Amino acid sequence: MKAAYLLGTRSLEIREVPEVPLGHGEVRIRIEAALTCGTDLKVWRRGHHARMLTPPCRFGHELAGVIVGKGPGISDWRTGDRVVAANSAPCGGCRPCQRGQHQLCEDLLFLNGAYAESIVVPERIVRTNLHRIPDGLDFRAAAMAEPLACVLLGGEELGVEPGDRILVLGSGPIGLLAAVVLRSLGARITVAGRGAHRLGVAQSLGVEDVIPVPVDGDLGVVLAHAKALGGFDAVFEAVGQPQAWEAAVQAVRPGGRVNWFGGCPSGTSVRLDTAWIHYGALSLRASFHHTPAMFRKALGLLGAGTIPVDSFVTAEAPLADLPRVFEELDRGGAALKTLIRCGR
Ligand SMILES: [Zn+2]
Ligand SMILES: [Zn+2]
Repeated sequence: MKAAYLLGTRSLEIREVPEVPLGHGEVRIRIEAALTCGTDLKVWRRGHHARMLTPPCRFGHELAGVIVGKGPGISDWRTGDRVVAANSAPCGGCRPCQRGQHQLCEDLLFLNGAYAESIVVPERIVRTNLHRIPDGLDFRAAAMAEPLACVLLGGEELGVEPGDRILVLGSGPIGLLAAVVLRSLGARITVAGRGAHRLGVAQSLGVEDVIPVPVDGDLGVVLAHAKALGGFDAVFEAVGQPQAWEAAVQAVRPGGRVNWFGGCPSGTSVRLDTAWIHYGALSLRASFHHTPAMFRKALGLLGAGTIPVDSFVTAEAPLADLPRVFEELDRGGAALKTLIRCGR
């Protein structure tokens, strides 16, 4: 079977590899849909991921497919079941897990390898984070459960009051998904980001205001907008750069809330005005990843048709073209998420 391998910085290869035998509690999924993700692009550029990936390794983490093989001890699943496997599973026993913060599990098990004809899902993920696809939901939409689960957790941790004016910083798939989710909770949304096409998508999704950010990433125009407004009630930061983290704090009103959702390059730091944080009584927090509960919720929302998947998955390509797809994403091509067709 064919599988994509990340070899290092900006280096991908499609290899023919043997199917490994299934161990206890494992299932094999034939992958029907794998989606590109901003995290994958970041990892491709950097050549590794501190917590998830050390090359050479399998690549891709948003997938949906069909169970085609069962290891010993599997009784709840049948061959032919349509499923989504999350890209992680918590241990359930450590301190964060015991407190319900499964995304912070001290032994979080990650799964990568979505860009392939098939994948073996480890026992712990089968037990805690493998989900049946609701009837009527296609594989492509089901594979959106992973990014949506992250955004749902981020939205919950930001907190939304009806009538809130919320700034979403960043117009990538995560920013636009956050805009949809926060808007559905009753907020009025402003999206600030680069790319006329992406801001057009934001408007088509019902976002009330958009602010084009210049190519050099200068956020002065966003801060001027925030000032004219007296500050946003909350900011959902989905850029993952220190200057965006700093701007997020400057863009809220006194009493405002910030969620630094985008992960910045490791080793970077930010400068914050302590007086503003103190006298402004700001609430600052960050969100990371997702939990099995959020994953289930995400799949439910997708099944209910509340997420306009067509606005997000805007291109498709065969597995063989994956290296080219990442080069295009790197150049800032028009596609938000690309469906990688993995079938023979
Ligand atoms: Zn993702
Ligand atoms: Zn744990």
